[in-house]
Amino acid sequence: MPSHKAAPHKAANDFEPDAIVVGSGAAGGMAAWVLARAGIKVLVLEAGRDYDPVKENAMLKWNYQAPLRAGSTPDKHFGFYDATADGGWEIAGEPYTNAPGSVFKWWRSRMLGGRTNHWGRHVPRFGPYDFKSHSRDGLGMDWPISYDDIAPWYDRTEKIVGVSGANSGLENHPDSSPGVLQPPTPPRINELAIKAGANALGIPCVPSRYAVLTRDIPDDDVPRQACFYASPCGRGCAIGAAFQSTTSFLPMAIATGKARILTDAMVSRVVMGADGKATGVEYLDRHTGTAHFIKARAVVLAASACETARLLLNSKDGGLANSSGQVGRNLVDTTGTNVSGHIPALENRPRYNEDGKDVAHLYIPWWLYKEQAAGKLDFPRGYHYEIGGRFHAPGAGSPAAGLEDGYGAPLKEDARRYYGAQISLTVRGEMIPNADSYCELDPQVKDRFGLPVLRFHWKFSDHEYRQIAHGIATARAIIEKLGGTVLTPQLPPEEAIAVGGWIIHEVGTTRMGTSADNSVTDQYGRAWDVDNLVIADGGVFTSNAHKNPTLTIMALAWRSMDHLAARMRKGEV
Ligand SMILES: Cc1cc2nc3c(=O)[nH]c(=O)nc-3n(C[C@H](O)[C@H](O)[C@H](O)COP(=O)(O)OP(=O)(O)OC[C@H]3O[C@@H](n4cnc5c(N)ncnc54)[C@H](O)[C@@H]3O)c2cc1C
Repeated sequence: MPSHKAAPHKAANDFEPDAIVVGSGAAGGMAAWVLARAGIKVLVLEAGRDYDPVKENAMLKWNYQAPLRAGSTPDKHFGFYDATADGGWEIAGEPYTNAPGSVFKWWRSRMLGGRTNHWGRHVPRFGPYDFKSHSRDGLGMDWPISYDDIAPWYDRTEKIVGVSGANSGLENHPDSSPGVLQPPTPPRINELAIKAGANALGIPCVPSRYAVLTRDIPDDDVPRQACFYASPCGRGCAIGAAFQSTTSFLPMAIATGKARILTDAMVSRVVMGADGKATGVEYLDRHTGTAHFIKARAVVLAASACETARLLLNSKDGGLANSSGQVGRNLVDTTGTNVSGHIPALENRPRYNEDGKDVAHLYIPWWLYKEQAAGKLDFPRGYHYEIGGRFHAPGAGSPAAGLEDGYGAPLKEDARRYYGAQISLTVRGEMIPNADSYCELDPQVKDRFGLPVLRFHWKFSDHEYRQIAHGIATARAIIEKLGGTVLTPQLPPEEAIAVGGWIIHEVGTTRMGTSADNSVTDQYGRAWDVDNLVIADGGVFTSNAHKNPTLTIMALAWRSMDHLAARMRKGEV
């Protein structure tokens, strides 16, 4: 905990906020916009640097213009053109540690807009079962809310974020209200092949839902343009087609006239008053290390699940808002593995442009609810497949999965034959919280600001290993059903499963619940112990369905901010 006395706040033109929002990613962007449009003066404090999504992206660059044909390096893990302007698996001077025997990887995007500048944008909804899974199988804990409580905010979030896709009418995969979704994009050949193979085995394959526009959003203040299918979304999107906080929520919040943003401002602790309420926050100028204090009536933490836990743990001995002892606990990621295959029927396809959105147009949702309820599976909870395979601009490595051989004309012939004839099935599954997976302050290691860093503890259980084994076996069956050859070596699930954190869906570290005994916040993200402190990021997840978390993070953040704004208007905060 920093011992220096904080200098008075001189930033943002002496703007005196009613509320402070820590972080500017999916949660922070949403929080800032909802509060600002409710007439509340908001200051967003962002640890990362300023980022201009129009000037700084490489949308229309060719791979051959970059080193290694834009392939990944240890510094640029997602490729040379990835929009992560600052951050990654490691940040210089800001380490984290793993307890002996644990492997957890932590991706941080230290930049305005956080990870929304380059995330995958796959946004399935959680369903009714996902909020009450303990009641179904006795594991973990139920959420304090039901699907019906959040459904209206899902609709609103999908509409404002701009989600293209279609309703599937499937069990526990809720439909959106009419008029909410933008039209889906037609499936590609490889996706239709996967659908045929899956359907033949009784497995559904339906239009996916992505936060990528297929129609313009012609808002007067912050217009966004439909995708013109030219560029990988991970490079960032200058036209606002692929949703990111920097082209929507943040400019929308600024346009209200009620919000300001301060970048390079690393919040080091929540400052408490004698009355047990937060008086504001202390932040460190990331360039000079100088500490400043900013006062506000309410503090909203949206620094991402693990950073928010760290902030609470660094704010008070034993942790702020931690009377339950749950801060840092219940850390989960999504489980993951990948199976790819070569399909001879897709060889030598005629060339045509099938790029579409830079995402899969179909996906395979979890389908075995009834079998699971009947006790026919040896693992709880579900997984889905994100599917792949198509013609697209080849990057680093072989365009044809290394199947091509020889030199000269035969090599070219092989490349033409095999290119675009592969498919992949990527498993994304639910992990159950367990007592061995959590983060805490490292007792020794500090970052370059002198702040204790996080130490991660991590362990999967047989639930996850059995689920991954099922996912691998089923993916292989789909490939074989199509007459294909599996290209991915068969590994035991303990080796095939991605290490903790690798899927970058870490949530649960400040979970919501029904009382201060079992949780850190109530159903509105309000800390049980600190009335004017609200957590808006994925820390509040009580469990993490296999469905990618960010739509739910944003919908919950909106609901929690509506609640906070109403309380502030009534003078309760
Ligand atoms: C490559 C990739 C692909 C992904 N694909 C998907 C997907 O398809 N679907 C999906 O649902 N999710 C996906 N995710 C995950 C998704 O990006 C996150 O769930 C989401 O961004 C979380 O939002 P957040 O606001 O909590 O955190 P972030 O977006 O990370 O924002 C947190 C912000 O807080 C700032 N911050 C941290 N600490 C402090 C501090 N002390 N003071 C001030 N500021 C601070 C950070 O710099 C950052 O800007 C993906 C992530 C990555 C990296």
